[in-house]
Amino acid sequence: MRTSLSLFCLFLSFAYCQTSDQIRPVPDTPIGYYEGDPLPPKTAYLTFDDGPSDWTSDVLDVLKKENVRATFFVCAAWLPKTNRRENSFKKYRNTLIRMKEEGHIIGNHTFGHRNFEQMSRAKIENQLEENEKLYKKELGEYSGNLTWIRPPFGSPFIRTRSETSKKRVGEALQGKGLVFMWTKEFDSTDSKEWVRGEWYEKGPRIDPENQSFRRKMDRIYNSLVSKTEGQGIVILFHDTHPTTKEVLPFIIEKLKEEGYTFATAEDYTKWRWGKTSEELFEEGID
Ligand SMILES: [Zn+2]
Repeated sequence: MRTSLSLFCLFLSFAYCQTSDQIRPVPDTPIGYYEGDPLPPKTAYLTFDDGPSDWTSDVLDVLKKENVRATFFVCAAWLPKTNRRENSFKKYRNTLIRMKEEGHIIGNHTFGHRNFEQMSRAKIENQLEENEKLYKKELGEYSGNLTWIRPPFGSPFIRTRSETSKKRVGEALQGKGLVFMWTKEFDSTDSKEWVRGEWYEKGPRIDPENQSFRRKMDRIYNSLVSKTEGQGIVILFHDTHPTTKEVLPFIIEKLKEEGYTFATAEDYTKWRWGKTSEELFEEGID
């Protein structure tokens, strides 16, 4: 009897997991995509963090040529480091407008790219709000809302095992937007280091023919294409690295060869919930 009761409980908890259709780190965390959540097969979601930068328009050129749409998580204060009075949204305003016009999705990667794990609720909110405020100010009529959020470093959802941090940050993000993480195995590792020949801005330091640069491109390519088996994947890239834009066409071509199609965070909500992120955000579904 005891065995059948525990089996019944196991069944109930399994049934709950299946029907709730959510693998959120904690119940109060916003809906979205987290590691382990369902994804449509043979679908690749290309995501780019930390931009815009000098390399973003090159990334857009590749995506246009390949007829692929992607999702960009933008950060106002990432660049330029030399002049804090400027901001990336102002500097690359035209690139951001182009991004929108070419059908890509723009999400919030916070103002200053700080790790949420040790931050208070007020500071987390401030990081998101400041970024969106500046984005709207610089983009004006082209802006719209930043309904998608990607926490810097994926923290604490990918980075830490602390349930307390996940709960605290999850609660702070509630009502701020939808969260779009990446598939842990599909971190391109492009932001792991700066190798010889690459830098965050155009100039004499850039040398795509350098051996280190080529080796890094190979590493990025192999780390991604060696793990594809037809499963749905959310890939993490950074449009602040020139290696990324150089290797991107090869990755897209290989994924196409394997029968993959490409989608955005917005396509994801339509696939999973049959609604846009704006609709879901306004409903505040739980
Ligand atoms: Zn980042």
